[in-house]
Amino acid sequence: MKIIRGFKTELDPNNHQRTMLLQHAGTARFAYNWGLERKIEARKNGEKNPSAMELHREWNVWKRENAPWALESSKCCGQEAFRNLDRAYTNFFRRCKSGIKGKKGFPRFKSKRNGIGSFRLTGSIHATDTHVKLPVIGAVRLKEHGYLPVEARVLSATVSERAGRWFVSLQVEIESQDHHHEKDELHPLVGVDLGIKTLAVVSDGTTFENPNALKSKLRKLKRLQRSLSRKVKGSSNRKKAAKRVANLHWRIANVRSDTLHKLTTELTRTKSVIVIEDLNVSGMLKNHCLARAISDLGLCELRRQLEYKGVWNDCLIVTADRFFPSSKTCSECGWINPDLKLSDRQWVCLECGCVHDRDLNASVNLENWGVNALLAVSSTERLNACGEEGSGSGSGHCETDLDESGIRHEITGSLFCCPENRFR
Ligand SMILES: [Zn+2]
Repeated sequence: MKIIRGFKTELDPNNHQRTMLLQHAGTARFAYNWGLERKIEARKNGEKNPSAMELHREWNVWKRENAPWALESSKCCGQEAFRNLDRAYTNFFRRCKSGIKGKKGFPRFKSKRNGIGSFRLTGSIHATDTHVKLPVIGAVRLKEHGYLPVEARVLSATVSERAGRWFVSLQVEIESQDHHHEKDELHPLVGVDLGIKTLAVVSDGTTFENPNALKSKLRKLKRLQRSLSRKVKGSSNRKKAAKRVANLHWRIANVRSDTLHKLTTELTRTKSVIVIEDLNVSGMLKNHCLARAISDLGLCELRRQLEYKGVWNDCLIVTADRFFPSSKTCSECGWINPDLKLSDRQWVCLECGCVHDRDLNASVNLENWGVNALLAVSSTERLNACGEEGSGSGSGHCETDLDESGIRHEITGSLFCCPENRFR
């Protein structure tokens, strides 16, 4: 199966290249702002919204007259910046139309103060074990050798800056290599309960600890930010302090992303079906006592990773109903505990006397929910199949032995034909 995926790695530019990278990022930023101004102006005057292509054509004429320095950068800087802008602009109006609550996010002007930013290049881009060759900029050394795919067709390269470091992210079209991992035979279908105390509890008993990426560094971060705020504006000491803050933020983000990637890769490689809760993250963030802890987890990112890695690794991601009481239900007898509080880590079922670990119980409930949901889907599919085939051979197929592993095998078999076939 051909998939499109990104490979991001750190660049090791020399001084000349560093200047070029800064120049390209600056051109992209400037073009974006220029395009946004044009779009706002057009709307004010009641003209048609200029598309990315039209903006690029206008920009090419305009920059020759007014911004000759922009000619030194690749033409892709402007072109791709206008594409981003166009997407941001249409997304804003889409959000307005759909009537979602909260901020609609009108595109904002980019400022150097919010970071140097990034730019995207297309065209002839080649990767070797040690270098990546970019248009106009030339061959830039890589810090990690042998990571980028050498043979693959490169669609685009996005170069970005973070805490003084430069990164390239190649979007390539490659044959999926992740397909042939051994699946866990014992627990092909699992429920996963996500939480703050432990990041994830899987119904087969494994747990993934929460690294507390931000919480563990919060004191240090506060101290650095305080020291930054006391420095004189424009001084070089302030610059140094700002760099220290940016560095710490970068480290925190790395801890978080590392944990999430390890978790999602392991789960999607070993399991065939994963049932997760449909968490209302933006709703939970309104609880200001929990907001920091929840955003520190990166739950939205976790779910996004599960979904795309699920497609790569032949793993079906099923989302349970948002109002399914996974924590409150007893996984043994189905009794619902009405007085369960968030602080109760363990509870006793009054109906059957089971002692439950809160998170494990929730994950087992999710697993059961998933088994039932898949059974429902497969039985309707089977009915349809019988109806089409007629009474003869079809009915024999219907009456196959319903032992548990058999069912599971058949369900997974039928659903895995097309990975896009997900149901919510
Ligand atoms: Zn019970």
